Amino acid sequence: MEVYTHDIAIVGAGLAGLRAAIAASEISKNLDIAVVSKVYPMRSHSVCAQGGTAAVMREGDSYELHAYDTVKGSDFLADQDVVEFFVKMASMELIKLEHWGMPWSRTEDGKIAQRAFGGHSFNRTCYSADLVGFQEMHTLYGRALAYDSIKFYDEWFVSSLIAEEGRAKGVTAIELKTGRMCAFRAKVIIMATGGACRIYRFTTYSHTATGDGMALAYRAGVPLEDMEFVQFHPTALVPSGVLISEAARGEGGYLLNGKNERFMEKYAKEKMELAPRDIVSRAEMIEMMEGRAFVGPDGPYLALDLTHLGEGKINERLPFIREVAQRLVNVDPAREHIPVAPAAHYSMGGIRADIRAATPLPHLFAAGECACLSLHGANRLGSNSTAECLVFGAVAGEEAAKLALSSTLPDLPNDRLREEEKRVFDQVLGNEGGERVPELRKEMSNIMNDKVWIFRDEQGLTDAVREIRALKERFRRAKVEDSSRLFNLGLVNALELDFMLDLAEVTAFSALNRRESRGAHSRLDYPERNDREWLKHTLAYYTQGGPRLEYTPVTITKWRPVERKY
Ligand SMILES: Cc1cc2nc3c(=O)[nH]c(=O)nc-3n(C[C@H](O)[C@H](O)[C@H](O)COP(=O)(O)OP(=O)(O)OC[C@H]3O[C@@H](n4cnc5c(N)ncnc54)[C@H](O)[C@@H]3O)c2cc1C
Repeated sequence: MEVYTHDIAIVGAGLAGLRAAIAASEISKNLDIAVVSKVYPMRSHSVCAQGGTAAVMREGDSYELHAYDTVKGSDFLADQDVVEFFVKMASMELIKLEHWGMPWSRTEDGKIAQRAFGGHSFNRTCYSADLVGFQEMHTLYGRALAYDSIKFYDEWFVSSLIAEEGRAKGVTAIELKTGRMCAFRAKVIIMATGGACRIYRFTTYSHTATGDGMALAYRAGVPLEDMEFVQFHPTALVPSGVLISEAARGEGGYLLNGKNERFMEKYAKEKMELAPRDIVSRAEMIEMMEGRAFVGPDGPYLALDLTHLGEGKINERLPFIREVAQRLVNVDPAREHIPVAPAAHYSMGGIRADIRAATPLPHLFAAGECACLSLHGANRLGSNSTAECLVFGAVAGEEAAKLALSSTLPDLPNDRLREEEKRVFDQVLGNEGGERVPELRKEMSNIMNDKVWIFRDEQGLTDAVREIRALKERFRRAKVEDSSRLFNLGLVNALELDFMLDLAEVTAFSALNRRESRGAHSRLDYPERNDREWLKHTLAYYTQGGPRLEYTPVTITKWRPVERKY
């Protein structure tokens, strides 16, 4: 097997991966950095971010306020040292992007404009109309291309993480164009592979956001943290699930039920539509379950009303939203209501990592949505995620660079490489069993939608774990229809499904065991938050028989948990 050698190998070319590559290059131009991505960088899910990036930029706002909003939003599960560090660094990252050419929307006097977002008590979300991810990705990609030390491996699918002798040593990857498997040997690896919400049927995610890096790390013995906490976004377009940014409510949009009532009044009197996402999504579910929603051919939905904003404001601030609604459901938001429902939108959980983005496995770092540094706890605030990718992408890149400068290259174990080749090409691609990958994927996402959704209970979660395990068993007999090696997306989908089944199992199992309600994890049978027993993080470790759970304390610096009201 051909082996590529680099000082640092970054898996993922979204916001976190690109920011890490730039940060590492800035530490030393002599470092040789690989960025490996299964899609071209500009097709990473980060490009889809719409509404904005949160940071303290003005008088009247403060780090203290942003930190407290984040901690309260997290339902007190966030690690407060991480939050305090994050809010300070976010402002610096925004200014860096500005210097690198980011086209922020501006106020009349030329300052970076900021808008309201859910759960933030100050209008601190910086934006670029409703295309913030697209613009940030262009800015970072352009910057990364300026460094000769960064080499891009586009359309390479990483299939395993090689860990041996207590450290990470490299990854195996398939070059999709040729179908050959190669290995990357590196002093340090950074996972920046994004979130996992494609385990659900109704989701705002790109089809490629399948959580691979989380599963790669998990299988290599790294714990996944807080996987039961999945964010549901209140306004996904019905029926496709394409996101209608929270910016639409930030700019003043209303949510209406089937009786044309602004129902949020009942659930969050003060913040209304701009309460955090877990609260708005639950409110929508209750309206739907109690028969106060609109009903269409695709089931119940709520209405997002932007008509009162006027065409001018919609064109200036939300042009993409208008285009999406017009093109996909033939609705012009300047004149009609947009049909919306809650959809799986963000993985709060992920690869356990500390404030330096270091995972428990030496020489492995993780940043962006695939990581769980416990910044978002049980519920992320909108616009904190792109900021997280920037802040902790930079931290991961810097820390990885420092470690790479002081370490030597590891040797890769040949037997492991051969085993991985066998797994991918003989067991998965060569499988002649009778099961079909798309069918198993559909069944998995249905189980997650039906039983591990916004409201959960013991019976549903127990069934979900059992049913996912049965799917894992059936996956061993799954046949990939296309047997060639060249650009075989059927093979990629099979490998992704294999990863997702692990992640679905960990999500359901962690949710089953957390017998309380906190943030986005809402148990009908345990409706209260229970700090006495559950103010702790879940850690899921891989074992042959399924995840083994441990728990670890939350870091509290200043803010004692109190009841969360909006
Ligand atoms: C529709 C939508 C809108 C959003 N809007 C906002 C917003 O306005 N503000 C905000 O703060 N947050 C927003 N978010 C969340 C935020 O955009 C994401 O959390 C963030 O962009 C994730 O970035 P990332 O770098 O971690 O991963 P991604 O951008 O998902 O990139 C993952 C990378 O990993 C690579 N990869 C994955 N698996 C493999 C593999 N096996 N082999 C090789 N490469 C692999 C991919 O090719 C890709 O390059 C939004 C999310 C969605 C889905």
